[in-house]
Amino acid sequence: MLGWAIALHGGGGDIPIDLPDELRIPRETALRHCLDLGVSALKSGKHPLDVTELVVRELENHPYFNAGKGSVLTAQGTVEMEASIMDGKTKRCGAVSGLTTVVNPVSLARLVMEKTPHIYLAFDAAEAFARAHGVETAESTYFITPENIARLKQAKEFNRVQLDYTAPTPKEPEIRGDSQIGTVGCVAVDSAGNLAAATSTGGYVNKMAGRIGDSPLIGAGTYANHLCAVSATGKGEYIIRATMAREVAALMEYKGLSLSEAAAYAVEQSGPRGTCGLVAVSANGEVAMPYNTNGMFRACATEDGFTEVAIWPKN
Ligand code: ASP
Repeated sequence: MLGWAIALHGGGGDIPIDLPDELRIPRETALRHCLDLGVSALKSGKHPLDVTELVVRELENHPYFNAGKGSVLTAQGTVEMEASIMDGKTKRCGAVSGLTTVVNPVSLARLVMEKTPHIYLAFDAAEAFARAHGVETAESTYFITPENIARLKQAKEFNRVQLDYTAPTPKEPEIRGDSQIGTVGCVAVDSAGNLAAATSTGGYVNKMAGRIGDSPLIGAGTYANHLCAVSATGKGEYIIRATMAREVAALMEYKGLSLSEAAAYAVEQSGPRGTCGLVAVSANGEVAMPYNTNGMFRACATEDGFTEVAIWPKN
């Protein structure tokens, strides 16, 4: 079976099951909108690399996700965004970290891939590269919003470095974060079996300035080859140690596992409960979206008509 397929995520974590409608509905609407955008692009024959970039840009522009516009703040009150993108067939890839003004980090990652002999640019040099290529930038007020300042204040009060959807615990009942924004990613395959993956994030609330997570790291947060494309979310330190995205591809390649077996095993092995999740597609159009957190904002569609937009496990 060959067919196009697409999957995207808006972050996984401890997403409270009683998330109020006013927080849940805009995220679901955004996921559905981004899915439709990606599906139309695939149907019109766009390459998966273009499709994943397009979808991740749209998610980056959305204030409810922790990437681009919605990026959370470091302990110093700054934004340090990061992103990566990879083409499965050629294994060409690009990555960026430490961005403070770039509106769409995923597109800068693509420019690094296409316009430099390198893969990964970070901090001042990445910002200078963005300016040299005339990419859209914004003042810090575009990113550093009252909502983000409040999230940082709350994390500092509890001395926590947190994924923003951190739920209250019995010991700290008042910690709710606003509990619903996460890293974004997209994977896609066309009906010719071309694969691509892209991931973008602001990282953790109250992270140390300079901290780099899994999202820009090829093989950890993002990976694509001739068999599959993977974008991860969750606690980056676990995902990096496990090289989780590459693990899915390796299990398929060397152990002959199916996409869903490989994806489920990689998530299970990568960290304890509550740490990680991923979206993945295979060259022949399968989709897998496993997670060991209590939820993951996610959406997918395949050529045979299957489509899903979900946050928690389906009953
Ligand atoms: N994986 C991201 C990081 O560690 C966070 C997330 O997925 O929400 O930066």
